[in-house]
Amino acid sequence: MSKIMLEGKKALITGASRGIGKAIALSFAENGAYVGINYKKSDKKAQGILNLIKKKCGDGLLLKGDVSNPDDVKKFVKKFADKTKNIDILVNNAGVYYRNSFEKIKQKTWDEVVSTNLSSCFYVTKEVIPFMKSGSRIIFVSSQMAFKGSPHGSDYAATKAGMLGFMRSLALELAAKKILVNAVAPGTIDTDIIKDYTKDMKQKRINEIPLKRLGKPEDIANVCLFLASDMCSYITGETININGGLYIH
Ligand code: NAD
Repeated sequence: MSKIMLEGKKALITGASRGIGKAIALSFAENGAYVGINYKKSDKKAQGILNLIKKKCGDGLLLKGDVSNPDDVKKFVKKFADKTKNIDILVNNAGVYYRNSFEKIKQKTWDEVVSTNLSSCFYVTKEVIPFMKSGSRIIFVSSQMAFKGSPHGSDYAATKAGMLGFMRSLALELAAKKILVNAVAPGTIDTDIIKDYTKDMKQKRINEIPLKRLGKPEDIANVCLFLASDMCSYITGETININGGLYIH
């Protein structure tokens, strides 16, 4: 895409040290945004992304912190806002997935998945909204599992469906302030989150996908770029499915 779509915007992306979040951070920065790169653990990986962004003439800020911890969230949102004054775009992307049948899900795992995938959206959005003005954007990275469920992640599916109810409600509430709130629902995207898939499992999934390939992080980043940009001005409360036709509904 040749047009710079986010010139001068300030965008905070959670879980941006790898996978889909990293692709979103790179794409936003290439399009002129100053990016807040939230990450939980790996300083090295996050610094590598910021270096790459700086090499490509963009800029940003590293925001270490666990999105499931409200105190961490307060600190990293403040750090970003102290630097940028306002926040134009928030992408609630951080998430965890453990491939477990319901029988094997322990209370501890349920709590971790709910706090990381769903409660985090409440914590981060709550802190960010005071810094948003008319025209700002909030994007949620949900999942196709929000719609079709999963026999290997009822905890995950519950959080991803919960995100959509939250997203639609916020869209209604924030419409008065002209803040647009939307979601993407990725299918199977080739990132670390599916690193436990064997080669056979991946091939089986590819065979099921009408477009005959797994998704790439950039497939998701491109749609987020559109939702964050002025190209999108009359869509709110919507979920865009990005799944190669695997689940058409
Ligand atoms: P990933 O595992 O590569 O990335 C997840 C990111 O979230 C990582 O950067 C991780 O460090 C971060 N994260 C996890 N817990 C965190 C915490 N407590 N605090 C801060 N950051 C934390 O996987 P991905 O595929 O890039 O996933 C990104 C999002 O896309 C997730 O919300 C995931 O549920 C969603 N998604 C992925 C797929 C897929 O097939 N890859 C499909 C549908 C939805």
